[in-house]
Amino acid sequence: MKKKTLEDLHVSGKKVLLRVDFNVPIIDGVITDDNRIVQALPTINYLIDEGAKVIMFSHLGRIKKAEDLPKNSLKVVAERCSELLGKKVKFVPVTRGPELEEAIAKMKKSEVLMFENTRFEDLDGNKESKNDPELGAYWAGLGDVFVNDAFGTAHRAHASNVGIATHLESAAGFLMEKELKYIGDTVENPQRPFIAILGGAKVSDKIGVIENLLKKADKILIGGGMAYTFMKSQGFNIGTSICEDDKLDLAKKILEEAKGKIVLPIDVIVTKEFSADAESHDTTYKHLKDDEMGLDIGPKTIKAFKKELKGAKTVVWNGPMGVFEFEKFAVGTRAICETLAELKDARTIIGGGDSAAAAIQMGYADKFTHISTGGGASLEYLEGKELPGVESLSDQHECVDCNCNH
Ligand code: AMP
Repeated sequence: MKKKTLEDLHVSGKKVLLRVDFNVPIIDGVITDDNRIVQALPTINYLIDEGAKVIMFSHLGRIKKAEDLPKNSLKVVAERCSELLGKKVKFVPVTRGPELEEAIAKMKKSEVLMFENTRFEDLDGNKESKNDPELGAYWAGLGDVFVNDAFGTAHRAHASNVGIATHLESAAGFLMEKELKYIGDTVENPQRPFIAILGGAKVSDKIGVIENLLKKADKILIGGGMAYTFMKSQGFNIGTSICEDDKLDLAKKILEEAKGKIVLPIDVIVTKEFSADAESHDTTYKHLKDDEMGLDIGPKTIKAFKKELKGAKTVVWNGPMGVFEFEKFAVGTRAICETLAELKDARTIIGGGDSAAAAIQMGYADKFTHISTGGGASLEYLEGKELPGVESLSDQHECVDCNCNH
């Protein structure tokens, strides 16, 4: 069943509860990447233009003890959001109680309010993260309708998404809709050739994705730390490179089942120590020494991956090709960005998390069809799993015979 989207709701004059994902990186009180706020602006602006009373909320970081509270306050995020909107966002520094209820009661049409980090409720028994029914019902009682635009947490059933949706008419916001469309449609109905690129640290995080994409993609290119488990499973010496020894049998089985669909690296950039300015050189797997570790794919692999990507019409990428945080070992990841940016008439989707961060940091933010705002959520969606934050939204129905105004 299709889910309701923003335009299915009547929002004028209504108190609209808007769950956003403003879990942005903050260093010393400064937001270092506001992409998630920027991506939510179309939904917020639509609600403002439609005359809704916009009540926004999000999680930020993790809250385990009282000392975690100040550094995870959404105040600085509300200020940034206000700057980007060019409109006042009233920040209410609590998650419940009279101060919040009175502020909402005073709201006029097209005004925007943001309340404090939903995870502040985790301090006392993980109420938000465990989807405490009382909390979901309380938040739902603050509004008339619910819009969920937080794709980044859609793979979790929390009080601020599933909990609220249980009680109110609920719809996907524009960003949520875009994420589902790009990731879902792309994987289900790809134009071919469809190439997937997977990297990052561990195989274990991406087993489900590999298995699902093996059924859908024409080729899967594997780089990054996870490649070493595959290479070791084929009998290569990987020295001190990152490896999950308990996944060797699985890696071997996946390669057998893939019947040539998986393309592994040929060469690697090796070093003797894990540091930004370590001595390094290119070597093939055959010649990798016991005391060396691979931190990036090498030039022959880049060339081979470029050849595979030539003419691709659909590309889904999740996980960097190397330790891109060290400039020296960011070459493979940058080469993938460059190659995808140059593809003509191709749909290029970057899963959230580190590959998205790398692409944005390297200046490719607007060079792809879509960069997901969700790390774990995009992985689970790529695995073909249902996302509770989406499943809990109201179903769309076709008002053929009924007189309802939906
Ligand atoms: P993930 O969150 O699984 O996508 O993993 C991203 C992390 O994988 C990044 O922090 C990279 O530094 C790391 N990574 C990528 N390649 C390697 C490698 N060859 N050795 C160790 N870590 C790696």
